[in-house]
Amino acid sequence: MDSITREEFIKAKRHLDAEVIRKKFRKSTERYKLLEELYKFHDHFMAEEFYLHLIQNNFQVSMATVYNNLVFFEEVGLVLKHQFGKGQAARYERALGRKQHCHLICLRCNQIFEFCDPRIHHIQTTVEEHFGATVTGHSLTLYGECNREECKNANSTLESEY
Ligand SMILES: [Zn+2]
Ligand SMILES: [Zn+2]
Repeated sequence: MDSITREEFIKAKRHLDAEVIRKKFRKSTERYKLLEELYKFHDHFMAEEFYLHLIQNNFQVSMATVYNNLVFFEEVGLVLKHQFGKGQAARYERALGRKQHCHLICLRCNQIFEFCDPRIHHIQTTVEEHFGATVTGHSLTLYGECNREECKNANSTLESEY
């Protein structure tokens, strides 16, 4: 996983500044603190995991506040929300300071793998030409079973979305 640099975090903070002003929200220190903590996660995490992380680090925060902020961060493009598999809690990951990537989900051990493939860019271009549209983003999730040793005994109830 890519770890975030100070500059990238400052960029995320500036992005938040701009959105808070645009939406005429009050500049709450809490929101900035949450963003800072969120950007420490280099992986895909669930809202509950984020909440637990905050509690363990002595943040006085409610689950509702965590959810509200995640919704806000997603809305303004600071966080990405994924729905991997049926009946699974949503996973989040920070949106800035990361390369756009696709996911492979192991349905047995729930491991999430990330990959980039330049051919997707080619597909986007073809689709743009075909429909005369501008593609602004994509999301591709592949499902399967991995070959990791620790996966062999895992017993997941995860089902493929498709
Ligand atoms: Zn990812
Ligand atoms: Zn696996």
